[in-house]
Parts: sequence; structure tokens; C-alpha cells
Amino acid sequence: MIPASFDYVRATSLTHAIGLLQDDPDGNKLVAGGHTLIPTLKLRLASPALLIDISGIDELKGIEVADRIRIGALTTHAELLASKPLREVLPIFHQAADMIADPQVRNRGTIGGSLANADPAADWPAVVVALKGELEIAGPTGRRHVAAKDFFVGIMTTALGPDEVLVAIHIPYPNPGVQFRYRKIRHPASGYAVVGVAVALRLQDGVVSDATISITGATGRAYAADSASAHLNGKPLSSQNIASAALLASEQAECLSDGYASADYRKHLVKTEIIRALTSLADA
Ligand SMILES: Cc1cc2nc3c(=O)[nH]c(=O)nc-3n(C[C@H](O)[C@H](O)[C@H](O)COP(=O)(O)OP(=O)(O)OC[C@H]3O[C@@H](n4cnc5c(N)ncnc54)[C@H](O)[C@@H]3O)c2cc1C
Repeated sequence: MIPASFDYVRATSLTHAIGLLQDDPDGNKLVAGGHTLIPTLKLRLASPALLIDISGIDELKGIEVADRIRIGALTTHAELLASKPLREVLPIFHQAADMIADPQVRNRGTIGGSLANADPAADWPAVVVALKGELEIAGPTGRRHVAAKDFFVGIMTTALGPDEVLVAIHIPYPNPGVQFRYRKIRHPASGYAVVGVAVALRLQDGVVSDATISITGATGRAYAADSASAHLNGKPLSSQNIASAALLASEQAECLSDGYASADYRKHLVKTEIIRALTSLADA
């Protein structure tokens, strides 16, 4: 459990960090909260030549709640849990942060590190996909924005290039009346999502609009269950419509299987977690 030796630099700016990545994109690695990377180094699953500590870069910090919502990549899970302005507008951040790991991990781990790492069982990917977020990325040729639904490519793989830094997450301000729910079945050891479900929808006179349902933990990457969302839009949030939407999502999920949960069990959880999330909104 001792990492291979590496050099360490504390980046002073975004430009500095990108320059250091460009020196050796395959050998140099960013570190934010270190709560995924450091265990990986200890297990020697990665042996970067240089660790570039980005934790002092101000541009990557902070939560802004205005016409749009901007969350800096370095924002910790604990800061997301504690932010009152964010909770008022997008309570799903509070709901999800409250379910991540334990206080030690929440105090150090960052949303940017979680999204860039793209663990299939991480919580934030489902939330940013459900909220139709955009990820701001900086690299040697400038800035670009990638829709969250296109960011997660596969297991631990994203649209980020090896010399790019995730700067911030941008979320559109929700329409009046939109409600949110995040639910998951926690892995008993780590707290990661065996299956997690993020839902945003508007109920007007009992009829659903603007529904988005996204899923993490079940498959190799977080994704939007578009057919289930489309099934709900324009209909009452009845138990029958909820059950049909959940079944659609579960039938279409090509689930992972591991020592804790088989693919069939995960498929079942996709259905039950969607039913529970939607029923809690119908009852609210
Ligand atoms: C015991 C334990 C339990 C956990 N439980 C959960 C859980 O229940 N749910 C959950 O979602 N997560 C969980 N995690 C993961 C935790 O949330 C991590 O903190 C998170 O996944 C990574 O964030 P970090 O800031 O620590 O990233 P780091 O470990 O510093 O980095 C992770 C990866 O992302 C890259 N990276 C970091 N920041 C950026 C950036 N801005 N731009 C580009 N690349 C970047 C790094 O190079 C590295 O490859 C758990 C971790 C532990 C140790």
C-alpha cells in the first residue's frame, strides 16, 4: 500500500496546471481532493510521474446561484451539502451530497474529481445529467462546454482530453415548480450507488412536464433514461404511469454485474428506485 515515487507541484493557476499537463499528458496527473487518486496510487493502479495539485486555484472554487448556477470543480461534497442558496433552488444537490460516503470523504472529495473520474457508481454524474448540466473544460486551445449527457463515455472514461482540466459545472436555472429527487441503494461498505436515480420534473394540475430521469450505478456510465422521461411527459403521475416508465427504463438498461450485485438485481433496482423516487414526488 505504498505508492511508487512521484514528483509534486502545486499549480498556481489554470494556465500553469494545463502547461504542466502538456509537458507529459500521459505521465502527469491532476489531484484535487485525492480521495480517489491517492488510494489508486497506493494500490499501484496508477503511477504518475508528477502530481499536479490544483486545490489552490481560485477559479475552480465556489458556488454561484444566479440566472444560471455555476459550481466550481473544486467544490467539495460538504460544501454542496451545506450551501443554502443552492438548496433553495436545486435541493437535489443536498439530497445527493447527504448520501455520499462519510464526513471525512465529503470534506475532501470534490464534484470535479468525481465527474472527471467517472466511476460508474458515483452519485454526481446522475445529478448533472438529470439537470441538463454543461461541463466547462479548459485546455491548451481554450475553453469548451460539453453537455453532461455527452461527457460520460464509459467506465472511468470521459470526454476530457489528457491535457484538459474540468473548470466548472453550469446548470440552467430551473423553471418554477420543478421538483427534484435523488435516491440510491448504497453499497454497504463504500456508500457508492449500487443503483442511483436522479429525477427532475414539473407537476402542473397533476400533469407531468419537463421530466428527466437519469441513472447511475447500473451500467458503465451515468445516462438519461429518455424513453421513461418521454413516457411520463404530458401524463398524470399515476401509479400506473410510474410503473410503466420504471419498467421501460429497467428493460433498456444493460446492467453491470459484480460480486455484490448481479445484472438482474441491478435491473430490478433501476425499476424499484425509479418507482420510489417518482412516487415520493407524486405524494409531495
Ligand atoms: C471510502 C470512500 C467512499 C466513497 N463513497 C462515495 C460515494 O458514496 N459516492 C460517490 O459519488 N463517491 C464516493 N467516493 C468518491 C469520492 O467522492 C471522491 O472524492 C471523488 O470521486 C473524487 O474526488 P476527488 O476530489 O477526491 O478527486 P481526486 O482523487 O483528486 O481525482 C480523481 C480523478 O479525477 C481527476 N481530476 C480531479 N479533479 C479534476 C479536474 N478539475 N479536472 C480534470 N481532472 C480532474 C484526477 O486526475 C483523478 O484522475 C468515495 C471515496 C472513498 C475513499
